[in-house]
Amino acid sequence: MMKHNYSAGPCILPQEVFKQASDALLNFDNLDLSLIEISHRSKNFVAVMDNAVQLVKDILGVPAGYSVLFLQGGASLQFCMIPFNMMKLKDGKASYLVTGTWASNAQKEAALFGESHIVASSKDKNFSYIPKGYAVPEDSNYFHCTSNNTIFGTQMKAFPEVSVPMICDMSSDIFSRRIDVSQFDMIYAGAQKNMGPAGATLVIIKDELLGKSGRAIPSMLDYRTHIDKESMYNTPPVFSVYTSMLTLEWLKKNRGVSWMEGVNNQKAELLYSEIDRNPLFHGTAATEDRSNMNACFLLNDESGKDVFDAMWKEAGIVGINGHRSVGGYRASMYNALTVDSVQALVDVMREFERKQG
Ligand SMILES: *Cc1c(COP(=O)(O)O)cnc(C)c1O
Repeated sequence: MMKHNYSAGPCILPQEVFKQASDALLNFDNLDLSLIEISHRSKNFVAVMDNAVQLVKDILGVPAGYSVLFLQGGASLQFCMIPFNMMKLKDGKASYLVTGTWASNAQKEAALFGESHIVASSKDKNFSYIPKGYAVPEDSNYFHCTSNNTIFGTQMKAFPEVSVPMICDMSSDIFSRRIDVSQFDMIYAGAQKNMGPAGATLVIIKDELLGKSGRAIPSMLDYRTHIDKESMYNTPPVFSVYTSMLTLEWLKKNRGVSWMEGVNNQKAELLYSEIDRNPLFHGTAATEDRSNMNACFLLNDESGKDVFDAMWKEAGIVGINGHRSVGGYRASMYNALTVDSVQALVDVMREFERKQG
């Protein structure tokens, strides 16, 4: 039975990407060898890495002066690499906007290196909104924010004008909408939400940001190592990079992020309007900050839970249980999830209303 996969991460990718990736596991580039049994320094794999980097540049319009890297350790390793490379050894200070669990983890790691200042936090209301109108101190070495709050379902619809370098964790909404890369000094994202399988982490970094901290940095944690070696200092996660390249090709072929943004707006509109209309549900995030990627909602009357759960499972829907810190439901609508899959969930919600009513 066809599944409607709403998993929060790892998550759905385009079916054609799964097919192409499986083919390459058996016979890559007609070499009669698997993608994962050849040298990462072979010309065939070097071409994959180069193509993946170029696709990121083309799709996002990355300006000159930035490097595109595929690293390991997930987005979570970036939480410590960023202060290690960017926070000054002497009187180092960085500013963080705390909008959820991931943002909070990033902020805590920075405290190991220097002053980790919180400009604003939405923890007071269980991270259900995006704080606005905060000031970023000018003596910060950088400002860090998280574009999409994967767990609580909020999303920054605009980014602040700041006088210090701006770094953004875009793990759960990269390639889902248009962004102006030049607004940021660094963007990073774990692959496993909108790009590919877990294992690779995309980093887009302005070269001039580096070499200013005065710290001695171990080679593997130093961005300059990976820039100099074009993400090949050590063995890259070849399968994740290859599959990410396939997803990026799919995106480019389909007219890129402006097309994707339109589809994502349509999916979000479809689901949120049902959450708002249906008297049996309510959304948990502040309306103006609602995420187009992760929609969090609750039943007004928990006693209907077993009936509702049985109904969506019956319809082939998977992965909509909410994160343990919020409860209820979280429907993750990443790029590869179709409008038809969202319609399937909306149909179940309507049918549930009819049954209960
Ligand atoms: C999933 C996620 C992370 C963690 O990614 P890992 O690759 O598992 O370390 C970090 N930030 C955000 C916003 C996420 O959604």
